[in-house]
Amino acid sequence: MDDATYDPNFKYDVASQPGAEQVKVCYACGTCTAGCPVAEVEARFSPRRIIRQILLGQRRAVLSSELLWYCETCYTCSAYCPQNVQFGDVMRALREMAIAEGYFSREVAERLRRVDRLAHAMRLELVRAALDAPEAPLPNALEKALEAIAARIKALEGAPDA
Ligand code: SF4
Ligand code: SF4
Repeated sequence: MDDATYDPNFKYDVASQPGAEQVKVCYACGTCTAGCPVAEVEARFSPRRIIRQILLGQRRAVLSSELLWYCETCYTCSAYCPQNVQFGDVMRALREMAIAEGYFSREVAERLRRVDRLAHAMRLELVRAALDAPEAPLPNALEKALEAIAARIKALEGAPDA
């Protein structure tokens, strides 16, 4: 392990963040990763692995990783953790630490948060379309949702990044 990137205090710093207090009691069962919708589609994303990195003190590797921003904040991991680790809140804390320590600028973080909001809105439109036409083949039902999504994207065009 690279000593320059190893920080034995990292886990304590994470555990001092609101909602992340339980991070040190993870026993690596992998239930969080097994239920995570992001891990299902992106093999590099693993809540269990991120927690191991925290406990091993891999501060730079964790806080500089783009994987921090892949989490959908669905809290499935938190709901099923036998140790009540609340990994969804751990991710939120890691993002704040990454910004505070200069790995991501506030501007980049805000752009990524807007991606989150758009993604949630898109999911809502897709669910609505599937419910509105439950008998229709899924691709056809989703065409309607795509129109609403296109309108949302158009509304974002030209909007300042805040
Ligand atoms: S489900 Fe909980 S205890 Fe199991 S690996 Fe995930 S965070 Fe750790
Ligand atoms: S909150 Fe994030 S890490 Fe947890 S299950 Fe949802 S997407 Fe995965």
